[in-house]
Formats: sequence, C-alpha cells, structure tokens
Amino acid sequence: MARRNKIYEGKAKILYEGPEPGTIVQYFKDDATAFNAQKKDVIEGKGVLNNRLSEFFMTGLNQIGVPTHFIRRLNMREQLVRACEIIPLEIIVRNFAAGSMSKRLGIEEGTQLPRPIVEYCFKNDELGDPLVTEEHIAAFGWASQQDMDDILSLALRVNDYMSGLMYGVGIKLIDFKIEIGRVYENDYPRLIVADEISPDSCRLWDIETGQKLDKDVFRRDLGSLTDAYSEVARRLGVIPKTSNVVKPTLIN
Ligand code: C5P
Repeated sequence: MARRNKIYEGKAKILYEGPEPGTIVQYFKDDATAFNAQKKDVIEGKGVLNNRLSEFFMTGLNQIGVPTHFIRRLNMREQLVRACEIIPLEIIVRNFAAGSMSKRLGIEEGTQLPRPIVEYCFKNDELGDPLVTEEHIAAFGWASQQDMDDILSLALRVNDYMSGLMYGVGIKLIDFKIEIGRVYENDYPRLIVADEISPDSCRLWDIETGQKLDKDVFRRDLGSLTDAYSEVARRLGVIPKTSNVVKPTLIN
C-alpha cells in the first residue's frame, strides 16, 4: 500500500490523509503519556485495544443517533474517520469526583456528584490544557453559543450512553473527556464526537471492588495497563471472554 501522508502526530495517535476527500486515517500508537507527557512509556498492545474499544463506543453512539466521526475500522491499529475541524476544547463530564476535580475542590475521590458536571478545558499542551469558563470560550470565539448548546447536549448523551453500557458490565463511569469536531453537510455546520473514547480518556472503576480499569493504572503505577484495558474489552465482548491475553487477540 502506498505510504499515506501524515497530517498530524499526537501523543497517542497519528492522523494520515484518508483514501477519499473528507476522510482521515486515525492510527493508534502504543505510547502512553501522563501529566502532559512528563511521564512516558510504550505499552505493547494499548493501541490495538483502544482502536477496538473506540470503534465499539463510537459505533454504539452512531447507532443511537449521537453523531461521531467514526466510519469503519481498517485494521488492528487504524480506523477511517470523517475529517472535521476540531473545536479547541476538551469536554470533561464527571459523575463522581476524581483526579483534578478532587484536588481542586478537596472532594474525596469516588464521591458521587449531585448531578453530572461538565467542564471545559482549552486544548493547549504548552499551557497544560487549562480549565476555562463559557465566558472565555465566548470571548475568545472558540465556540459560539449554539455550538455550546450542542456540545452540552452531545456530552450528556455520551455520558448517558457510556454510563449505562458500563453499568451493565459492572463498571462505574467516574468521568471522561471527549473532543468535538465540526463538519459541513450541504454547507450547514454540524457538530460530531471526534478523537477517541477509550480507557485512556475515561475513568472506569469496578463497581464491586473499586479496581481502576483506566489510564490511572499507568499514571499512578497500579499494575499492568493492558490487563486493565483487556478486562474492559473482555467484559464488553470486544475480545473473547475466555482469553487471558496480554497481547490482545481480536474477534474479527
Ligand atoms: O485529570 P482530570 O481529572 O481532569 O481528568 C478528567 C477525565 O478526563 C479523566 O477521565 C481523564 O482521563 C480525561 N482526560 C483526558 N485527556 C486530558 C485530560 C483529561 O482524556 N488531556
């Protein structure tokens, strides 16, 4: 196959020009980073698992009418997605206090929040993705008021879908981050869920034991990251239930 033109390389993914206009190939690397890339490692098999898990979540969202960039998986590490203009915000939804919110507000990790709380961070690695308010977003023109209404609605629908899905396999969705992109359909702009949804971008705790099954395993040195991600994939039926994989075996 002809080598594709690289458009962008991020911490966990590479984007290549897609085969047709308006498409992009998203390649999942094995690189793991935390604390704005101050902690780094290569975790064999992580990219393969995240490619499959993101496919699984995005396909489900597409099926219930939450539009995403996902078109189809191409192979173990690559998926075809719609090209979109990424809104320069990280949208975080929290159901339970954890991570930066616990630190910032002094709330014990795992405390259930009175309702889902949506936060916005400005996507800027040099600044460490700072938390911003809707005032900043409006004043600096990062998104319009209509965009913000649509973003909030998408974020809450993703939260309902992901919470229910995870609850069904004995996992609590503590929080997650999504990114949103803009596409044009017949010249009309439309917002869609972009980037990835995976245990890299969610906090997932076992309901019974509280065991962490997400990137905090890497951030906090809690054991094998691929074991944790494989457990999530196994419970969701993305990899065979019986397999005891370190290097993931994939269904189809
Ligand atoms: O670190 P913090 O508690 O703000 O993270 C909230 C959620 O957003 C976590 O699930 C984390 O994995 C995710 N996140 C992310 N990418 C970032 C920052 C946070 O996926 N740059």
